[in-house]
Amino acid sequence: MDLPNAAPFAIRARLLSPLADGGTLHEPDGLVVVDDAGRLTFVGSASDAEMAGVSPQVLADALALRPWVVMPGMVDLHAHLPQLPNAGLGAGLDLLTWLDRYIFPLERAFDAPTAERVAPLAWQAFAAAGTTTALVYGAVYEASLDATFRAAKAHGIRAIVGKVMMDRITYDPTIDPAVILERSLAESARLIERWHGADEGRLRYAVTPRFAVSCSAEMLRESASLAAATGAYWQTHVSEDRGEIAEVARLFPEARDYVDVYDRAGGLGARTVLAHAVHLSDRELARLLESGTRVAHCPASNLFLASGVMPLGRYLEAGLGVGLGSDVAGGPDLSIFSVMRVGFYAQHARQVAGVESGPVLTPLEWLRLGSLDGARALGLDDVIGSLEVGKEADLIAIDPSFVAPLAGQAADDDPTDLASRLIFRSHPDMVRAAWVRGRRLEGPGSRG
Ligand SMILES: [Zn+2]
Repeated sequence: MDLPNAAPFAIRARLLSPLADGGTLHEPDGLVVVDDAGRLTFVGSASDAEMAGVSPQVLADALALRPWVVMPGMVDLHAHLPQLPNAGLGAGLDLLTWLDRYIFPLERAFDAPTAERVAPLAWQAFAAAGTTTALVYGAVYEASLDATFRAAKAHGIRAIVGKVMMDRITYDPTIDPAVILERSLAESARLIERWHGADEGRLRYAVTPRFAVSCSAEMLRESASLAAATGAYWQTHVSEDRGEIAEVARLFPEARDYVDVYDRAGGLGARTVLAHAVHLSDRELARLLESGTRVAHCPASNLFLASGVMPLGRYLEAGLGVGLGSDVAGGPDLSIFSVMRVGFYAQHARQVAGVESGPVLTPLEWLRLGSLDGARALGLDDVIGSLEVGKEADLIAIDPSFVAPLAGQAADDDPTDLASRLIFRSHPDMVRAAWVRGRRLEGPGSRG
């Protein structure tokens, strides 16, 4: 099949997407038209296209993909790119043993030559999983981050990346601990200058102090000022694990709780994404709400590492901005669809245990969480996250035969049934193509 590599193009397919003002777009015989700037100029029923001004030639030339489904690309709000080669390893180990055995060696070795080799494959793997926007942690080395960004630039994915900052633990014994803070800030500032907003905003920077356990109060404060001064994002981890929470309380005795550590640093706000937030108190939840801080929900990681089960219903009922993160390699799989599956099961488990107070999401609501809500958490919901006219064409095409229980079984007509299959029977090869701004990404279909 001759899939379009670049805009402009038109595709006739089944369409499934959340809509910005609520509800779901479902068109069994739909059409998307992408202009030469990579924007959606028509989204809807193929039979309405001519009435809406689509030329008969464009309609006739549209690539026929039915019964494939075209959807918005997924948004991964939390992943660690250098850890990807060890995804799925170390189940059942305690956190510190897992980090020592499987994670720190990879991060330590992720220098520029390693990044040049691995990052292109990593971006392809994101695209193969159906992710077209990713907010990720890189390594600690400046040159490694440049290589990671160059790979994203060449690949075409929409990427927000940050150099990990930490001054309590170091990977590089040649750096004098006394200068780590200053050096890490200077490196981050140079990376922001080179990459934040590159390719008309497709590439962006996130100032990335790893988490309170590995950062001094000064590092947290200075990194937050750097993000505020440059308009970059600020990302870190919060309240993932009971042991970690106790350690943060020991390291920051002046703080009221974990969220307060970041609050005192000036880190909360609408351009901040905190990963996990599994065990928030009511006060912490209220501060995240007041400050407009967003949360990356990573249920697959939280169960892989036995961290806990986030009270998603309670947070959503309160109005917290939440999207989904794979947290690879704490999570074993890059696929946001598989993250939805684990999240769904986890919410059912809370219900069974009688501890879920809020509503349990439907399959279509999970799809929204993984796409439009993720875009909203990044402040990009006017640009991506749904199939709507005027947005940029960040699309994926899925072959539903991969999720059918029997060979030759027809795809489900009902959109909720289709979403349920994509979540509970997601298949590593079901995403057959992905585009960002109408430019096709390498990765999907490369293995089968
Ligand atoms: Zn993480």
